[in-house]
Amino acid sequence: MPTLSSDVLALRDDIIALRRDLHQHPELAYAETRTAGKVVEFLNGAGLEVRTGVGGTGIIASTGRPGGRTVLLRVDLDGLPIQEQGDAPYASRVPGRMHACGHDGHVAMGAGAARVLAGRGLNGAVRVLFQPAEEGEGGAQAVVRDGGLEGVDLVLGIHLWNELPLGTLGVKPGPLMAAVDRLRIVVHGRGGHGGMPQRAADPVVAAAHVVTALQTLVSREVSPLQSAVVTVGSIHGGEAFNVIPDEVTLLGTIRSYDLELRRSMPDRIRRIASGISEGLGCRAVVEVDAGNPAVINDPLVAEIARRAATRVVGADKVVEPEPSMGGEDMAVYFEKAPGCFVFVGSANAARGLNQSHHSPRFDFDEDALAIGCEFLVQAAEEALRA
Ligand SMILES: [Zn+2]
Ligand SMILES: [Zn+2]
Repeated sequence: MPTLSSDVLALRDDIIALRRDLHQHPELAYAETRTAGKVVEFLNGAGLEVRTGVGGTGIIASTGRPGGRTVLLRVDLDGLPIQEQGDAPYASRVPGRMHACGHDGHVAMGAGAARVLAGRGLNGAVRVLFQPAEEGEGGAQAVVRDGGLEGVDLVLGIHLWNELPLGTLGVKPGPLMAAVDRLRIVVHGRGGHGGMPQRAADPVVAAAHVVTALQTLVSREVSPLQSAVVTVGSIHGGEAFNVIPDEVTLLGTIRSYDLELRRSMPDRIRRIASGISEGLGCRAVVEVDAGNPAVINDPLVAEIARRAATRVVGADKVVEPEPSMGGEDMAVYFEKAPGCFVFVGSANAARGLNQSHHSPRFDFDEDALAIGCEFLVQAAEEALRA
């Protein structure tokens, strides 16, 4: 059984109610205006200093006293362009929009923690950041540009995690989530009649070979002891069954941890895509957009998080999660201040609440919300104590 403070317990039902409200009204990146309004409403009267419009639709709620350290607790606001398939009474009411990553829960936990912390005598300052646009749209960069990290000594963030059972907290020093870069390859050929391929240069065949050859990057070029992913997630070309199109566009993602490896990937991809395409009479144009760096938890902040987590769920429920090749823009903050990103175990297989994040059937056990809220409170206090 987790140890919950009386002020967290007192808010538990309100936190769940806020999560369910947000779950029914998911909003996409930079459009989280209703969500932000609900946060402001929830925080109203708690004595927090609330700054809105941070990085677009973000909010910073501050409490505590200046002069000591400043700890930033970060949660994220946005939903995803997914049609929810679950049948919970609080399922999304917006077609094609869903909180399928659990950010509704993050907002609720962050708002609860802000209220609780405002009622405590803090030995420093705490900012709770409600960040817009985590899902690949640069929300963290927008917050940094707006000065959200100025004066911050240390950053803590949480993510509900269906890879871990309810009642656990996942704390790991060092590498946790991968750097994410976006890949776009356009294979240019020469379109023509599907029955007369000799008069065309077929970009569909060339693109197919490029996709296949890209698989050798990780399997043959990267050391088996290093981690990397190259995934082509989208192929578009052609409209008709009997026409060879002019071009085919491939979209993909590149994941890695090692900085040198990361920097080498665009040239390697260019070499393969261009070499293969030219061999087949086509031409490839490769663009790689640098995304978020890897999430590498600071060992000292991870130790603070581990101590706080132990107080909440007990030492035997504090687990070290496997690093993931998923990405998180939390990493952007770690370039400004040392930090730790912590997973809040939220799976309950017996209740069917163990679908993966971003699944149209994603949902989590709401008992995780009070645990995550308590963890945020304990971690902030621990960080100000340390
Ligand atoms: Zn996500
Ligand atoms: Zn997420």
